[in-house]
Amino acid sequence: MDYQIALIPGDGIGREVIPAGVKVLEVLAKEFQFGLQLTEFPFSCAYYRQHGEMMPADGLEQLRPFQAILLGAVGAPNVADHVSLWGLLLPIRRQFEQYVNLRPVRLLNGISSPLAGRTAADIDFLVVRENTEGEYSDIGGRLFTGTDREVVVQESVFTRKGVDRVIRFACETAMNRPARHLTSATKSNGIRFTMPYWDERFRAVTADYPDLRCDQFHIDILTAHFVQHPDWFDVVVGSNLFGDILSDLGPAVAGGIGVAPSANLNVEREFPSMFEPVHGSAPDIAGQGVANPIATFWSIQMMLDFLGEAPAGAALMAAVEKVTGDGFLTRDLGGSETTDSFTERVIGSLS
Ligand code: ATP
Ligand code: MG
Repeated sequence: MDYQIALIPGDGIGREVIPAGVKVLEVLAKEFQFGLQLTEFPFSCAYYRQHGEMMPADGLEQLRPFQAILLGAVGAPNVADHVSLWGLLLPIRRQFEQYVNLRPVRLLNGISSPLAGRTAADIDFLVVRENTEGEYSDIGGRLFTGTDREVVVQESVFTRKGVDRVIRFACETAMNRPARHLTSATKSNGIRFTMPYWDERFRAVTADYPDLRCDQFHIDILTAHFVQHPDWFDVVVGSNLFGDILSDLGPAVAGGIGVAPSANLNVEREFPSMFEPVHGSAPDIAGQGVANPIATFWSIQMMLDFLGEAPAGAALMAAVEKVTGDGFLTRDLGGSETTDSFTERVIGSLS
């Protein structure tokens, strides 16, 4: 097979970890004999400062023919977060109906959890976040601004299509894992309309999967359980807001932001899916060559898995864990490897 992949290195350490990712991808392509056509796009905050927009007006059209997008990070100290969010990330996620945000949480060999005594056997779950609707809507407004009658309303939008499809993806994913256990994040004791509806659809969709063990927790206690009982979880599905919270908390118990990967999936493959490390552009360390490339490598594993090259992805993560297991870590994890030296070690362990 021949894969067309769009690369958006973006800003800051995105410009360091994506080239590292390209190096390992090229080695994997040779070893596992698949074709790669990588096309780089300059869309970024740097592009914004030159052109007044994060990408050209036809940027989405340029990306549409690709099977996957590999993104580094976008963001810069002098550009407001909403510019990169609304100018690039959200248009890509929404136009290409990347309705699943998938974040694996697993403690890798040689990396320690901030949770004392927890090992790889305890921390291995997936967070499935709804990525297109829910609480993050632009419906709402403000009245009587600046007076003491000031009132602000923010609507949430939950559609049957939107809720069902993400829960169904979570069911299918859980069915393919040994534990076959799916947990729903809810808050139907406090939120009167949307969350009872979420629960209702969770019951309806999971009814098609009698072999799945299903449960649900309110988001408040669920966050506590993530810390106190990470071993309880296998696949956890949540709305856009609850999934957002859980998908930052999850990686935090598994060694931090330098290793956390993510995928934004258009499950039906009508449009490109996007794979990206969870971390941002990290301007404080950009340009020093010390960024941890594991989050990018793991995102590439997810991309290869989605494209149908699972053995290549598995080989990549085995190589990463060989290196971390031997004690070679980047600075964020307490080691002294650079982006390049770590990448070379991974490539060395691949072949
Ligand atoms: P942005 O504005 O793009 O979100 P940020 O500064 O918020 O960028 P984060 O990704 O949120 O960056 O990271 C917070 C901090 O974690 C960084 O400042 C950096 O010190 C550290 N960090 C993040 N990613 C990495 C990485 N891959 N390797 C090493 N350290 C990292
Ligand atoms: Mg940030």
